[in-house]
Amino acid sequence: MKFTENDTIAAISTAVSEAGIGIIRISGSEAVEVADRVFSTPGGKKKLKDAESHTVHYGYVRDENGAVIDEVLVTVMRAPRSYTAEDTVEISCHGGVLSVRRVLETVLEAGARIAESGEFTKRAFLNGRIDLSEAEAVMSYIQSKNDLAMKNSLGQMRGSLSSRIEKIRGEMLYFTAYIEASLDDPENLSFEEHIEELSEKNRGWLDEIAALIKSAEGGRYIQEGVRTVIVGRPNAGKSSLMNLLLGQDRAIVTDIAGTTRDVLTETVTLDSITLILTDTAGIHHTDDPVEKIGVERARQNFEEADLALCMIDSSLELNEDDIEILKSLKAGKSIVLLNKTDLETVTDAAHVEKYLPADIRIISFSATERTGYEELTDALKDMFISGSVGYNDEVVITNERHKRLLEQAQDSLTLLRGSLLEGRSEDFFTVDLMDAYEALGKIIGESVGEDLVNEIFSRFCMGK
Ligand code: GDP
Repeated sequence: MKFTENDTIAAISTAVSEAGIGIIRISGSEAVEVADRVFSTPGGKKKLKDAESHTVHYGYVRDENGAVIDEVLVTVMRAPRSYTAEDTVEISCHGGVLSVRRVLETVLEAGARIAESGEFTKRAFLNGRIDLSEAEAVMSYIQSKNDLAMKNSLGQMRGSLSSRIEKIRGEMLYFTAYIEASLDDPENLSFEEHIEELSEKNRGWLDEIAALIKSAEGGRYIQEGVRTVIVGRPNAGKSSLMNLLLGQDRAIVTDIAGTTRDVLTETVTLDSITLILTDTAGIHHTDDPVEKIGVERARQNFEEADLALCMIDSSLELNEDDIEILKSLKAGKSIVLLNKTDLETVTDAAHVEKYLPADIRIISFSATERTGYEELTDALKDMFISGSVGYNDEVVITNERHKRLLEQAQDSLTLLRGSLLEGRSEDFFTVDLMDAYEALGKIIGESVGEDLVNEIFSRFCMGK
């Protein structure tokens, strides 16, 4: 695929807000010339076109009348040793919103075109410096909500997924070539004796692909967070728990936009786990029509959540609302918090267990005294991190597109397994092998069309 352009593009690559420094990035065949048109050193003699790659220069950006716009440092990086693999110049200027914009305008007037979202990274891909999965990892990296997500994206940016895909594809190609050769020259070459070897390999590929697909479930938790609801009857302590979680120094709290207006959603990161918390109305029986709507919504959130934290007031007897909630909890997706254990206990774990439909963790808790908090964090890690993916260097699939392609490859290899078992003729093998090969190739960006590439990069932010 070649739809390379190398006209010169520019954009503000830092956040557009008041800051110490703002960076304007220029990339393309004329990046250095464009920069030379707006930049001058204090002595006025030195030109960037004579500068060595990877050097920094002090001076001024001036407008077309020669008036100084800003005092800057300019970094020159020559192709192919730059982010885009093209000639690149970065202008670090003072970080006022207006001044950064003014420098960008000057650069555009000097002959660069404004870059589209993700265009720098797209060029890195089109110029072959990174493959598609590595480019997509750049975007996940920027959007990471926690350490684990960052570590995983960084690994993929550096090729941890690509290298595994390439290894499998290499092996597939070897077998395909061998089969083709034996079909061409049956006198001298026979694939017959390699069938067992191919079956064995295929089992290995299927295992590896299945493990990657499996990691995607945990991957979603890592990358996007765990959709969490706090359920319980009124006064059980739901709001207190929410405040406790949000109030931790370790917690990073942000509002996320686009959620239902009257359901408050907050994101909190505890260690490596990001919870997207929905503070819902309590689930309980009511005849009040307005309250009913709230309860209905709570129920729906509860159904859709990855995790339900169920608050039980241990200082009171279980009532029918408690029992109904306990019965509806799902294994692997729920934790019961026996709250208010600082008060005299009326309801204990044994009472609760009677109503649980499955083996669900029960933690003694007190939202006011903060007891049970560490145990809760550990339980969350068990459920959402070590359970599915582990803290090690395993590759975790966090991208839906990658997951779908892995599933396609899995389907083809399953067909191949069938053909091998049934002892079909060898041309059947190559068809399925090649289908799997192509599906995997699309993950790293081979044989993907221009539309898809444009679509993927348009999701990036400006200046990246
Ligand atoms: P919600 O209706 O489920 O959101 O319950 P709240 O969080 O508003 O709590 C109801 C009442 O119980 C408040 O007065 C809280 O201060 C109190 N409460 C919550 N958690 C605890 C706890 O662990 N111990 C004690 N003693 N009181 C608690």
